[in-house]
Amino acid sequence: MSLMIKRSLLFYALLFFFSTGFSQAPSPEAFLGYPLGKHFTPHDKIVAYFKEVARTASGQMKLEQYGTTYEGRPLLLAYIASPENLRRLEEIRVNNLKLAGVTHEKTAGDESGPVIVWLSYNVHGNEPSSSEAAMKTLYTLVDPSESRSATWLKNTVVIIDPCINPDGRDRYVNWFNDVADSQPNPDPQSREHREPWPRGRTNHYNFDLNRDWAWQTQTETRQRLKKYNSWLPQVHVDYHEQGYNNPYYFAPAAEPYHDVITPWQREFQVMIGKNNARYFDRNGWLYFTKQEFDLFYPSYGDTYPIYNGAIGMTFEQGGISAGLAVQTADGDTLTLTDRLEHHFTTGISTIEVASQNAGRLIKEFHNYFVDAAAHPGGDYKAYFLRNDSFGDRLERLKAFLDRNMIEWVPVSSGSFTGTDYETGKAASFRAGAGDIVINANQPKSNLLRVLFERQSHISDSVTYDITAWSVPLVYGVQAYGLAAYVPGATGGGGGAAGAGGVSAGPGTRMIPDTAYGYAVRWTGIRSVRFLTAILQKGIKVRYAERSFQSGGVSFGSGTLLITTTGNGRASELWATITKEAEKTGVVPEPIASGFVEKGADLGSDLVHLVHKPRIAMLTGEEVSSLDAGEVWHLFEQEIGYPVTLINADEINRIQWKNFDVVILPNGNYRTLEEKNNADLIRNWVREGGRLIAMENAVAQLSKMELGIRLKGEGADKKEEEKDRKDNIYSDLHRYGNRQRDEIANSVPGSIYKVELDNSHPLAFGYPDHYYTLKQDDNVYEFLKDGGWNVGVIRKDNYVSGFTGNKAKEKLKDGLVFGVQDMGRGKIVYLADDPLFRSFWENGKLLFCNAVFLVGQ
Ligand SMILES: [Zn+2]
Repeated sequence: MSLMIKRSLLFYALLFFFSTGFSQAPSPEAFLGYPLGKHFTPHDKIVAYFKEVARTASGQMKLEQYGTTYEGRPLLLAYIASPENLRRLEEIRVNNLKLAGVTHEKTAGDESGPVIVWLSYNVHGNEPSSSEAAMKTLYTLVDPSESRSATWLKNTVVIIDPCINPDGRDRYVNWFNDVADSQPNPDPQSREHREPWPRGRTNHYNFDLNRDWAWQTQTETRQRLKKYNSWLPQVHVDYHEQGYNNPYYFAPAAEPYHDVITPWQREFQVMIGKNNARYFDRNGWLYFTKQEFDLFYPSYGDTYPIYNGAIGMTFEQGGISAGLAVQTADGDTLTLTDRLEHHFTTGISTIEVASQNAGRLIKEFHNYFVDAAAHPGGDYKAYFLRNDSFGDRLERLKAFLDRNMIEWVPVSSGSFTGTDYETGKAASFRAGAGDIVINANQPKSNLLRVLFERQSHISDSVTYDITAWSVPLVYGVQAYGLAAYVPGATGGGGGAAGAGGVSAGPGTRMIPDTAYGYAVRWTGIRSVRFLTAILQKGIKVRYAERSFQSGGVSFGSGTLLITTTGNGRASELWATITKEAEKTGVVPEPIASGFVEKGADLGSDLVHLVHKPRIAMLTGEEVSSLDAGEVWHLFEQEIGYPVTLINADEINRIQWKNFDVVILPNGNYRTLEEKNNADLIRNWVREGGRLIAMENAVAQLSKMELGIRLKGEGADKKEEEKDRKDNIYSDLHRYGNRQRDEIANSVPGSIYKVELDNSHPLAFGYPDHYYTLKQDDNVYEFLKDGGWNVGVIRKDNYVSGFTGNKAKEKLKDGLVFGVQDMGRGKIVYLADDPLFRSFWENGKLLFCNAVFLVGQ
């Protein structure tokens, strides 16, 4: 740099300083009018404080709104850096991506830094102390009297997300401020410590945003991850609270660790933990490490950053339901002030230790990605994914890869041999139109490996969450693991290289509006979106119960048929259909005549009119909020169809005849234990209602003598007891193994193959099988008279994930998806959750079949 440029830069720096330097950011107390910890700060005031700091300390902090929540609240990122670094923030960001090797230009990144520390607060809305701590942390970093801050910021950029989940936070805070006594009441029995359903933990649709990082099904996550992946920090902390009787938890995390986690990532967790411990020891605060919070499931705020090259961590303060003050089990009073002080301390300690080790952190970060691209671990060098020729499963999977910056390339010719994901055995196959390959030699290979492995590599079996999520099985996409890279499809940069890939399906055809009718294949969520759109436009639509052939073209069962008869003027009909087809991505195909070459004619009684269903879902205290949220989200955000939410304890007050379909999400329905209510439902079904029961709701219906029975209740149970008598020593359990013994019965979430009767509408659009996420050991006896066993697990259908020994014994030869005919109505049993966290993509169509096709 020439002297002249230096001088002029100095001039501008001085000018900048004098134009902003006189005003100084106010402390949170000065701005809010109360000391932090005295009240819960509503989200809009947190936003106002961050804006005020951005205005008054513009040389040190830059504020960006990166999105909006479902309820319209702003999502913010604050960038805090030295004035010099703040001015070249974009350059720092791009350099960091170069270090990770994920930019288009392949120039090497500069290892001289600065290091990037990202602090995420309040992902769970009712763990609210951390957003208070965020304000204090921000203020400390920009306060000129804090000389240590200025030192750290010389080589550190701090990114603060003050509140990941504003809707959930305000749900908690507004409720608390509404019911709290004028002085905090520390008695745990007081109502201010008893938060009502659905509680503030989750976002608007009751989703746990700390399970959504990889899948990005929610608008908050999707917008945040775009930013996160455009920065890729070296250090990420996700702030939480746990039960208020627990001491503080920080890194290092508990086993199991996924085995892609590098020695450096383990080592630096320990360094951070030790630095935190130094402050906690000095203050005499209790804490624990290495227990409870493991690093395995890839969609947390600690694991996702880890699988993306960062030191990712969860910090947990005791505090859920603690209000402003609560008496703890050991007789102390825990206050909001205590809680936010602890979170503030670990934040500052983390920034400090990152700054002290900036050089090593950046070097190791760079190595992580170089190594990931050059020597990808795992069972396969490449993953071959088959196009589902008329469906949208691969389309959706490609969008998922793009969101995570995992590169893929189209491959439409050549012969390959690889491990078939479905059988686990070697198979040979030829590539076809629309197929893709993901080579593992790319910067994101660790994330890719974790998401795609057929068997999860787990270092211990006691974990906090599901243990299987193999993406091809989740999406229902046929996949092969290859032992070699596919040439021409190189990794190593390019970001979302897949954009502009080949689209699925038969391609757009010119369609004459003189046809007898149009067919739309029933192959995925886009078919459902098309159906819901035209139903709401009042268009009459039918579906074919059997496959058929028309004009030499074959169509599968479930195909939607729209005829000109009964649908008004042909040209208008065609215009509407074209418009909705474009919006939803389906391709309508002309049908020349009602007379078909194979299968049933369009006027046959094997072609059913789809009556536009009026749908209700039970919700409220008796229902699992997460599961109700999945259904609600599907209707509103994925398929755009109205659903009426009804409180389960009011079912004797509603007009049942106003609804065609009623959904019982997973829950514990006390309401069904009352005979009158049970009779009400039974009668409504007999008169033509369609009841969809999910997970535990099925178990509850099995007690109502409707024809479905849980397996293992009768004879099996006796046998189990006999076994125990035969081996009296089996009752001797070692105390130290108690946690491990418990898991013999557990199914934390593993994958099983379900064999489908796809001639039943519940399984239309599927091959003869489906991969289900088993989260309990419930299977049902096969249905008899008037019952259809649509989805069953036979013996040896286990595929992947952890299942306890005893549970494994139970999970065979039973029903998981079934339909019971009853009078003029139906009951659909979905014993497993086909909508799990909205990321179990291949289950969504099954659920929509239950809603729109079954019983029509
Ligand atoms: Zn939490």
